[in-house]
This record gives sequence, C-alpha cells and structure tokens, in this order.
Amino acid sequence: MNINELKKIKKRALDEHIPIIMDDTLEVIEKELKKNPPKKMLEIGTAVGYSAICFSEFLADKGTIDTIERDEERIEQAKINIVKTEVAEKINILEGDAVEILPILNEKYDAVFIDAAKGKYPFFLNQSLRMLKKGGIIFADNILYKGYVMSDYNKHKQRTAVRNLREYIKEITENPELETEILEVGDGLAISRLKDEK
Ligand code: SAH
Ligand code: MG
Repeated sequence: MNINELKKIKKRALDEHIPIIMDDTLEVIEKELKKNPPKKMLEIGTAVGYSAICFSEFLADKGTIDTIERDEERIEQAKINIVKTEVAEKINILEGDAVEILPILNEKYDAVFIDAAKGKYPFFLNQSLRMLKKGGIIFADNILYKGYVMSDYNKHKQRTAVRNLREYIKEITENPELETEILEVGDGLAISRLKDEK
C-alpha cells in the first residue's frame, strides 16, 4: 500500500467535501477487521475509494472487497485512486445503483460496510444479511446522523433518512440472530455480528 498516495487522497476528498469515513470510526472498524480478517468484504458506497483502500490492508490472504458506487465521476476517481495506492487487485468496483446491484449479487461475505443513501439502510441490511456468512459482521456508518436520529425534531429534508435509520436500528436490535452495538464514534456506527450457533 502506498501510504503517501493515501494521505493525498484523504486530503483531496476532505477539501472537496466528500463524506469519507471519519478517523475514529475507521479505527474501530480496523480493530474489528484485525480480529477476524475477512476473505471477502462488501462495501455499499465507494465514493473515491478511501475507506475501501484503508480496509484492504486488513483482509485475509488473497482477500478482496466488492464496493458499489453509482456516481460516475467518483467511480472514475476511485479507479485512479486504487491504482495509485497499489491495491487495485484487491478492490472490485461495482458500478451502478446498489438498489439494483445488490439483489443480483450471489456471494458470501465475511464483512459488510454500509455507507450510502440513508433512506435505503433497511434494504441494504436485508440484502447484506442474505449474503452474510455465519459469524460475519455488518458495519453501518452515519447511523446517528448528526444526532437527528435521537432527537424529536427533524426538518422535512431529513425525515425519510431519519425514519429509515431508526428502522435499521430497530431491525438490528430486535433480530435475535444478531449481536449489535451502536457506538457514538464519528457520525454513529452500528456493528452487528451474525451469531455462529456453536
Ligand atoms: N465509503 C466512502 C464514503 C462513501 S460516501 C468512504 O468512507 O471513503 C457515500 C457514497 O455512496 C456516495 O459517493 C454516493 O454516491 C454513494 N451512494 C449513495 N447511494 C447509493 C446507491 N443507492 N447506490 C450506489 N451508490 C450510492
Ligand atoms: Mg459515512
């Protein structure tokens, strides 16, 4: 991995207000990945590839990441970035809307990172659960959405996102097959592990 290029990618993304993963959130996820290095990881929301590039350091031997993005400019930038950081062979960018791509995927994943349209989180959860291996883990970023999720007052603009993020939290906490924690790092991170009934 070319750390120098990674630093440049991070700086440019921040300058351009691309909502890349926050440092404290990344730290928590990397710690989890280190405990159980995934052979196959799924990411929903590539942006310019920053988080996928970071995660690629923590994969199992010959491990890979499938990452979905619909914005054409960001896809082009992500392609350049994975080459510059020398991790292109570990990252497979799936181009298009995750709402269309997820249902046609038929893979088994050890870890999933959900980081795309907040209004679609319950759908992303169900699709991720369909493909998650026993003992696998799902991370969902921005789950507390600047505090809106826990507050009574929400502007019209945020209402659908907030309703769906609450629905996501309800589903992960009520699902008896999942062990879930919600952490107040970054913009809120939900971590759910699919129990491995042994
Ligand atoms: N994971 C990245 C940041 C992702 S930002 C990182 O931490 O570096 C969220 C991205 O999700 C945006 O680039 C947006 O275009 C994309 N996105 C949102 N909804 C999507 C959808 N339904 N399908 C595919 N991509 C989506
Ligand atoms: Mg995010």
